[in-house]
Amino acid sequence: MRPKDRISYFYDDNLGEDCPVFENLFEFCQIYAGGTIDAARRLNNQLCDIAINWAGGLHHAKKCEASGFCYINDLVLGILELLKYHARVLYIDIDVHHGDGVEEAFYFTDRVMTVSFHKFGDMFFPGTGDVKEIGGKEGKFYAINVPLKDGIDDTSFTRLFKAIIAKVVETYQPGAIVLQCGADSLAGDRLGCFNLSIDGHSECVRFVKKFNLPLLVTGGGGYTKENVARCWAVETGVLLDTELPNEIPENEYIKYFAPDYSLKIPRGNIILENLNSKSYLSAIKMQVFENLRNIQHAPSVQMQEVPPDFYIPDFDEDEQNPDERMDQHTQDKQIQRDDEYYDGDNDNDQNMDDA
Ligand SMILES: [Zn+2]
Repeated sequence: MRPKDRISYFYDDNLGEDCPVFENLFEFCQIYAGGTIDAARRLNNQLCDIAINWAGGLHHAKKCEASGFCYINDLVLGILELLKYHARVLYIDIDVHHGDGVEEAFYFTDRVMTVSFHKFGDMFFPGTGDVKEIGGKEGKFYAINVPLKDGIDDTSFTRLFKAIIAKVVETYQPGAIVLQCGADSLAGDRLGCFNLSIDGHSECVRFVKKFNLPLLVTGGGGYTKENVARCWAVETGVLLDTELPNEIPENEYIKYFAPDYSLKIPRGNIILENLNSKSYLSAIKMQVFENLRNIQHAPSVQMQEVPPDFYIPDFDEDEQNPDERMDQHTQDKQIQRDDEYYDGDNDNDQNMDDA
C-alpha cells in the first residue's frame, strides 16, 4: 500500500471510536509490530531464550479491522513467525480483556492453542470469551477461554492459572510460548475490574518461565500507567531472575510514583469484592479439563513449505549502554544493509568515485 492508501484504509472503514487516528499512527504500528516479529525471529534463530516487547500485545486487532486500541495484531504476526520453526505454539493471555483477535486468527487450526483468562459478562469489552468458545474444525478444543467475574484475587487467579497452564503444556507440548501480560488485570486499573497485585500477576510470568521453552513476552492493556510501568519492570526482573529493590531510583518520571516511590502498588480503597466463588472457579476448571481430554495428544504437523526469514540485522542492541535512551529513529539508522547505497562515510558511490 502507498502511504496515502494506508491512511484512507484506516480512516474510511476500519476505525471505530476506540481506535483514534493520530499522527505517525502507521509508524507506531510498524514499531510495535516489528518489535514482536523481531522477538520471534530472535527466538527462532536461538539468539535468546526469552524475548520481551512491552510495546506489543495488541490482541484485539482483527485481520480487516482495528479494535479496542489495537490497530495491527503484532501477536498474530509473531506467532506466524514462530510457526516457521515450531509445530505447535501456545498463546497465553492475562490481560483483563479477552484475547479475541489472536483467538480468531487461529480458531480453526490445532497448530496454535490460545488460552485467555479474562473478565466476561456485564457487556464487558469485547463481549466474547465464553468457556463454550472452544475453536472449530481442526482447531476444535484448541481455543481455551477462562471467563472470570469482577474482583478475582491473587490466590484464586494464580491457583486456577497454574492448574490450567500445567495441564495445557503437558497435553499440548508446545514448541514455544507467547505470553501477553496486559496489566489492566491489576487492582486499581482505570478500565479493569480484577484485584491482582503485581506479585500475583508476575507469579503467572514466573510460572510460565519455568517451562524453559522459547518464550515471547509482550505487554498489552493497562490504564493506570504508573502501575503498568511498575508491573512490567517487576516482570522484566522475574524473566531475568533478578529481584528488584522496592525503592524506585531517581529518573525523569519519578513524580508519577509519588508519594511512596515504591514498586509495590499502594493499596487504597481499591479492593473489590471477589465475585468468583470457589464453586464457580472449580466448575470452569473442570470444563476446561474436560475439553482438554478431547484433544489429540500433541498433534503432529505435515511438512510444508516455510517462507524464508526476513533479513536479520548485524546490529546488536546488547552492545549499547542500557542507561542511555535511544529513540527508534536513531536505532534504525544504526542498522545498515550491505547492498544499499548510503550518504556519508559508508556511501558506496563515494567509494566507487574514489576507485
Ligand atoms: Zn485489556
